[in-house]
Amino acid sequence: MRMTRYFIPTLREIPSDAQIVSHRLMLRAGMIKQAAAGIYSWMPLGLRVLQKIERIVHEEQIRAGHIPLLMPTLQPAGLWRESGRYDDYGEEMLRITDRHQRDLLYGPTNEELITDIFRGHVRSYRDLPLTLYHIQWKFRDEIRPRYGIMRGREFLMKDGYNFDVDKEAAIHSYNRHMVSYLRTYQRMGLQAIPMRADTGPIGGKYSHEFLVLADTGESEVFFDSAILDLQFEGRDIDYDSRGNCARLVDHWTSHYARTDETHDQDVFEETVPESRRRRSKGIEVGQIFYFSTKYSEPMGASVSNANGELVNVHMGSHGIGVSRLVGAIIEASHDERGIVWPSSVAPFQVGIVSAATGHAETEAVCNALYQELTGLGIETLYDDRTERAGAKFATMELIGLPWRITVGPRGLKTGQVELVRRKSGDSKQYATGEIVAALCYQLEAHN
Ligand code: ATP
Ligand code: MG
Repeated sequence: MRMTRYFIPTLREIPSDAQIVSHRLMLRAGMIKQAAAGIYSWMPLGLRVLQKIERIVHEEQIRAGHIPLLMPTLQPAGLWRESGRYDDYGEEMLRITDRHQRDLLYGPTNEELITDIFRGHVRSYRDLPLTLYHIQWKFRDEIRPRYGIMRGREFLMKDGYNFDVDKEAAIHSYNRHMVSYLRTYQRMGLQAIPMRADTGPIGGKYSHEFLVLADTGESEVFFDSAILDLQFEGRDIDYDSRGNCARLVDHWTSHYARTDETHDQDVFEETVPESRRRRSKGIEVGQIFYFSTKYSEPMGASVSNANGELVNVHMGSHGIGVSRLVGAIIEASHDERGIVWPSSVAPFQVGIVSAATGHAETEAVCNALYQELTGLGIETLYDDRTERAGAKFATMELIGLPWRITVGPRGLKTGQVELVRRKSGDSKQYATGEIVAALCYQLEAHN
């Protein structure tokens, strides 16, 4: 993409209500624009990141055997009356009446709708296990939307729902979700810790929240620091194996890690050596639940089991805060100059900066490089504006692309251009004929 043909509405003046760094950086980098309190437009650069995150979430869900579909944002109130949540949900639910005076609502979550889909079509245990999910916008009329897209009123969520014939099978679904979530966050360069959590209005006994540690997080967390050493990388997972998934979950939940809602100071002190006790803030980027027959019972979602008996299906639900993750990744990865994107979610992999606008040879080299890189399918942002070099560098640092190639008359005298890694600031000169190969090598090595 050529910057002169793109749209990056960067901001110089940051509104004073942008309290946390991710919100400020997203505004400065022109990733989002507020439309109303807690409601945002996603500008082109922000959308690219959001879509990268979505793609990783899809890939890991499908890998775990879960099936994507798409349910609407608007739902009929009747289904929520059946489950008893229409009145329970309270003021966070946006209620709408259509021209025929029918009650609708903008979905804050989808347990009712998915249960309705299920009960209309599935009759036998032979059709189970089944996990359906979607990535769809949600609306919750949060009393205090803040921190930009981190606590929005409209936000993008991946929500999935498992249907199983009995508790053992449902626990396997729960474990599968935990493992797939850990993989998902890790691919985005995040360490998200599963913590035992309260189930809130969703209900049920089993729940874990996934938290990214950050001073700006809204949740208070208590954990054993040994959990920070757990690594997920390179694990081969057999999602069909109950034993395999259960062992991984045991491994990841063997250390004390709880949110303030479930924290027990006595247990904390008894089971964790003092030097490893940590109290911190965290950003909730996901949560999983097993709630047994809470929805299937009132809504009549049952199947015949192997003995021919009719049983209510066991369900769970599982959510990832897709749009919140954009902010969480920035909170975890930035410096004083701007965002530092992990390459897996970066809007572009590389930026080209011409350090001397109007210098014919510099521009010719930039153009050729741009053509070659885009031809190779490498996402490239070419800053071809007539700005000072310093301003271009500042923009590149702010928007945080993993690599930058700088082309200028001084280097070209000896036929060289510069490759800079955003994360470390390391830079190296390469001959113009070698830069593309060098970049490809680095992209491969740091992926
Ligand atoms: P919170 O405690 O932060 O209000 P929640 O527990 O009510 O979140 P869930 O129902 O567990 O939210 O939703 C799944 C995920 O959706 C959360 O883990 C979070 O990452 C994301 N999420 C929830 N509310 C919001 C919001 N208002 N804005 C952005 N993301 C949100
Ligand atoms: Mg939650």
